[in-house]
Amino acid sequence: MTELRRFLDATSDGFVALRDGMVIECNLQASDLLGAPVETIVGAALHEALGLPNASTLPTPSPTGSEPAAADVTAVTGAGEELQLRVVAWTTEGFGADTHVLLQDMTAHRRAERQLQSARQELAREATELWHRAFHDPLTNLANRNLLRDRVDHALSRRGAGLLAVMLVDLDGFKSINDALGHAVGDEVLIEVADRLKACVRPSDTVSRPGGDEFAILMEELGDSSTATAAAQRVLDQLAAPIVIDERSLVITASVGIALCAAGDQTVDGLLGNADVALYRAKADGRGCFSLYDPSMQEAALARLELEADLRLALNRGELRLDYQPIGTLKEGRIDNVEALARWTHPTRGVVPPFEFIQAAEDTGLIVQLGEWVLREACRQVTHWHRLMPDVPPVSVAVNVSGMQILQPGFVDTVARILQEAELDPKYLVLEITESLLTEDAGITMANLRGLRDLGTRLSIDDFGTGYSSLARLRAFPVDELKIDRSFIAALDASGDDAPLVAAVIAMAHSLGLEVVGEGVETGHQLEFLRDHACDRIQGYLLARPAPASDITELLGAPATVLRMAAAQAIVGDSDLVSNIEVMEALALAVTEGHDIADVARPLLASVAKITGLESVYLTRIHWDLGEQEILVAHNTGTLQVPAGVKVPWDAGIGGYNDGRVVDDLGFKTYVSVPLVAAGGGRLGTLCGASRDRLRLRKDHLAVMELFGRVLADEMRARAVESLDTVDLVRAD
Ligand code: C2E
Ligand code: MG
Ligand code: MG
Repeated sequence: MTELRRFLDATSDGFVALRDGMVIECNLQASDLLGAPVETIVGAALHEALGLPNASTLPTPSPTGSEPAAADVTAVTGAGEELQLRVVAWTTEGFGADTHVLLQDMTAHRRAERQLQSARQELAREATELWHRAFHDPLTNLANRNLLRDRVDHALSRRGAGLLAVMLVDLDGFKSINDALGHAVGDEVLIEVADRLKACVRPSDTVSRPGGDEFAILMEELGDSSTATAAAQRVLDQLAAPIVIDERSLVITASVGIALCAAGDQTVDGLLGNADVALYRAKADGRGCFSLYDPSMQEAALARLELEADLRLALNRGELRLDYQPIGTLKEGRIDNVEALARWTHPTRGVVPPFEFIQAAEDTGLIVQLGEWVLREACRQVTHWHRLMPDVPPVSVAVNVSGMQILQPGFVDTVARILQEAELDPKYLVLEITESLLTEDAGITMANLRGLRDLGTRLSIDDFGTGYSSLARLRAFPVDELKIDRSFIAALDASGDDAPLVAAVIAMAHSLGLEVVGEGVETGHQLEFLRDHACDRIQGYLLARPAPASDITELLGAPATVLRMAAAQAIVGDSDLVSNIEVMEALALAVTEGHDIADVARPLLASVAKITGLESVYLTRIHWDLGEQEILVAHNTGTLQVPAGVKVPWDAGIGGYNDGRVVDDLGFKTYVSVPLVAAGGGRLGTLCGASRDRLRLRKDHLAVMELFGRVLADEMRARAVESLDTVDLVRAD
């Protein structure tokens, strides 16, 4: 027995000897391994000693041969720990045992093996993830630019695979959502958009997010282009439904550009570039629509690049100037503010519309420089007006400020410096910002807005109603005024549906202590509505179009008030003539100050003389029953006179009008007559003009006479024809 012990103790593995399945001897290593004293192990069945439920997993060596049998088992030690054992057993003779069993501790080995295995798996997983990350956008999990390019490349190289299309989808105004509501909301919008886009195409198509708010879809094996345009329409429809985030309902629109080609006909860059050109066109077409690439668009895209380059130069070359558009108070009927609007006259392209170059300036960052120029120029101009017209109450100037300017840390200092240079009191500067800038979390915006308020400038919210802010939210910001967007004002006429909304905005703004401007007022009806609802100011073509400073000077000093002019314009409707200040003045005086027809006519005749250069302008009335015509009111200059009150027999038969012959006799070479036809029909008389010189009257001169003729005829009708005989005629002087 001791012999066996010595032999067993000499091996480094656990060793037990069995007889009839029971342990008769066991070495110390086995005791250590199994965590049990030798005495406990000896006498136990092997499976008991190993903590196994039965002997079924143990190796059974052949009774005759000396070939060992082996099995791996998970033993349980006396301390209850699991132990990976390799059990090798062989039949033997001698030392009183029939089986010898070697117990090799494989735990460390197995652990190492497992670790190796999991390290391998981990590596594989990481590699997959790295690959995934290299080709996917982490936010939406869509393919990224690399994968898109790879797939497009692959599709292009599959010759004979039919048509393929790349569709670029760009969210309109996404930046303002991000700015206004924060990046977290912006991210959710992108995730939702990604989901909706996937729903618009087949699973085999690749939906990707190459970056920012731009998505791209690769569609392969298309029958014809209509499949692609139908998909584009689906995209627009899908995105049209509001996206609800945090109980806030956001309406997103997108612009879509599509480029098609047959496999093998294009390069990746060529196809993506074409889609980009089409996208740009869709945006230029007013956003919210799709456009299919055609080669002519390339020119437009080039033009845009040129535009940006030229804009850079424009600032230095002095091609920019400002127009000013009056804003009038409705209570006093006074122009107390003018909005400065940037104008660019390009040396070869002519006038570039602001929406085009302001957008380009914002895209390129030039807006900061441009905006500073606008501020400086506007402040300088308004100081000039103050000095020019010390007796007229000082007018303010409103300047549009873009988001990028407000985000400049030194913006308040810039404004302060410009005001100082211009020697302008800050209270005469109104800064117009758009709604989307009002975000709770935009620290720098808030700090700058407060700084501007401390400086003493006024703040106005431009285009109110088109963004995402609520009136209640405005309370948190140092804002003085709201400008209701002109789309709401226009709707006052069209359907009237928005009328209660406009009325409510005015009332609520007032309750927050804000003043309200109605933008884009074009009709008398809109004016009336706004006045009835106590809107503070109006701006719009009805009052005046934007015009160069020199034209505005005249308006600011003009005796006619805003309301009178607006009323006059409302009478004549939307004629281009009403942008002529002289014409407006005359109309205003005529319709608001005339007690009798002579009062109405006098300013009109005077301005016809001034505008046309005719020396003598007069109004005749035809007494059909008496067969004579009478010169009612005359406006004469110089020595050639048509005396008012002249009555001549009406004799239309011989070579034209009687008074025509009269003026001919008097030596007049130019003679014009415009019939006065009342709105209800019926000729009431004639508006005439004559000159000793040969005058070439322009078309717009005649148009002015026609316009005045209409107003006069209406007034004559309104004042009853009989009373005309008693009109106190104006004598020629
Ligand atoms: P805005 O600030 O809302 O300016 C009012 C726009 O409405 C002007 O267009 C004006 O001509 C137009 N408008 C005024 N009354 C009427 C009307 O009765 N009917 C119609 N249909 N339109 C009317 P404009 O000059 O084309 O300017 C467009 C926009 O460009 C401005 O909108 C403003 O957002 C931007 N903008 C213009 N100048 C500047 C500038 O110096 N800086 C910045 N950042 N933006 C500017
Ligand atoms: Mg504005
Ligand atoms: Mg506006």
